[in-house]
Amino acid sequence: MLKINFIVYSQPMLWNKIEQIKDLLSRKREIAVVSHRNPDGDAYGSSLGLYHFLKKKGHNVNFVTPNDSPDFLKWMPGVNEILIFEENQAAATEVLQRAEIIFALDFNALNRVGNEMQAVLEKIDPVYVLIDHHPDPDDFADFSFVDVKICSTSQMIYQLIAALGELDLLDKEMASCLYAGILTDTGSFRFPNTSGDTHRIAAHFLDLGIEHTKIYGLIYENSFDRLKLLGKAINNLVYLKDYRTAYITLSNHELNKFNYQKGDTEGLVNYALSLTDVIFAAIFIEDKQQGIIKISFRSKGNFNVNELSRAHFNGGGHVNAAGGRSEKQLNETVAGFLGILPKYKDLLMQGHE
Ligand code: 5GP
Ligand code: MN
Repeated sequence: MLKINFIVYSQPMLWNKIEQIKDLLSRKREIAVVSHRNPDGDAYGSSLGLYHFLKKKGHNVNFVTPNDSPDFLKWMPGVNEILIFEENQAAATEVLQRAEIIFALDFNALNRVGNEMQAVLEKIDPVYVLIDHHPDPDDFADFSFVDVKICSTSQMIYQLIAALGELDLLDKEMASCLYAGILTDTGSFRFPNTSGDTHRIAAHFLDLGIEHTKIYGLIYENSFDRLKLLGKAINNLVYLKDYRTAYITLSNHELNKFNYQKGDTEGLVNYALSLTDVIFAAIFIEDKQQGIIKISFRSKGNFNVNELSRAHFNGGGHVNAAGGRSEKQLNETVAGFLGILPKYKDLLMQGHE
């Protein structure tokens, strides 16, 4: 079979500390892999991909996630071995305390794991290895591998394995996890973050026998309730032509009406962004349990939703995809959002006739 040997790195120096990682992994270690709260496809895919790889190399490995995932990720190989901090705090804490090395994947600030798990991580002193593709990382890791140009942390895990010279260890299980992370973070290979490397790596996964059609179905097929919720979301869509902006709201009442399950709102914001001429989209989702409004922002081109979310909504993310939150009521949050739009009008209408 053709060997992949032409992966191009957007930062050639990215893996320049790989020899130190090789040294670290040169004998059997206690390792924890951790990812962010409300894990998405890339958090799970990259973490489980690395988990399987490190186990295959003979290490003692645990994947600790702050809280549970949506059901559409629960098919991934290894998913039953995950330690969910929120549900099993004692065992998860013990694993973290015992770890000599902690791989932090798909996030770049310790507060992304939630207060309680953050408190544990701040008290221990393992070797932290950060692998991530979000901008502006906090300085908490001993080794940071960060490249904002790479579509997903899952792709970075493939590149890590390649840089370690261990691609021969890659198998269908790891490939399925990593493929799922790439699939979800690239919007099924359509976002601008998709590169030639992304496709070459995906091709390698297909050669390893992953069932890509099945994986797509497991992630994207809808329940009846979920499809009806999408109908409601689209009904609530507001288009602000003068700002090239569109947004969606979903109240707690509306979510309950369609028997909301974790993960059902994933991707809805993209419908707002799919409007011709819209370059900025938001969705505001009322979360009565946490007493917050969870917000997702998406954009096309240079409009930076990471900065906007950091500045106004306690959040962050990437240039074109970010999340945030508000502790106000839903209608007040939307009013606040409408209030800041004029500040961004010039940026939103730049170069527009
Ligand atoms: P989503 O809108 O799908 O929840 O998140 C989009 C992107 O923004 C993801 O890359 C996610 O990691 C990041 N993100 C979401 N919520 C937050 C947040 O509260 N803080 C930060 N820093 N990033 C977030
Ligand atoms: Mn990611």
